[in-house]
Amino acid sequence: MKCPFCGGNKTRVIDTEKEEDTRVHRRRMCVQCGKRFNTDERPLLNYPMIIKKDLTRQDYNREKLMRGIRIACAKSPVSIEKIEGIVEEIERELQMQGKNEISSRTIGDMVIARLKTIDQIAYVRFAIVYLQLDDLLSLRNEIDRLLSENKMEELNEV
Ligand SMILES: [Zn+2]
Repeated sequence: MKCPFCGGNKTRVIDTEKEEDTRVHRRRMCVQCGKRFNTDERPLLNYPMIIKKDLTRQDYNREKLMRGIRIACAKSPVSIEKIEGIVEEIERELQMQGKNEISSRTIGDMVIARLKTIDQIAYVRFAIVYLQLDDLLSLRNEIDRLLSENKMEELNEV
């Protein structure tokens, strides 16, 4: 930890205060210039690498995921808050799983599981964009899957 005043490398912790489990406040003093400053230390969140359909790897990109869902939900009654909620839930799940790599398909499924209950048209649109369903057959498979799951739910309700 470098001193923000003189750039000196030696600082001494003079007080530590845990605010939450995930956050530590420290008061430090620079050995060189004697000035004091606070630090707010929190763990860096690691997201898994995303393995795309063509097997190339990409960093997890929150904006990209948001954009995909936003496009899918255009002209539908799904609010931005709801979309942010979906992304936050997925990020929490990724943190908990703690994997190094995850396929875009798996993330897509996480979105789909949530979109499906909110807006089915948005769900199909999302499948086209994010899962790169670029042919009618794989699109039909998605819709068939959705329809058969709907049927299952109806049967369960009876
Ligand atoms: Zn200093």
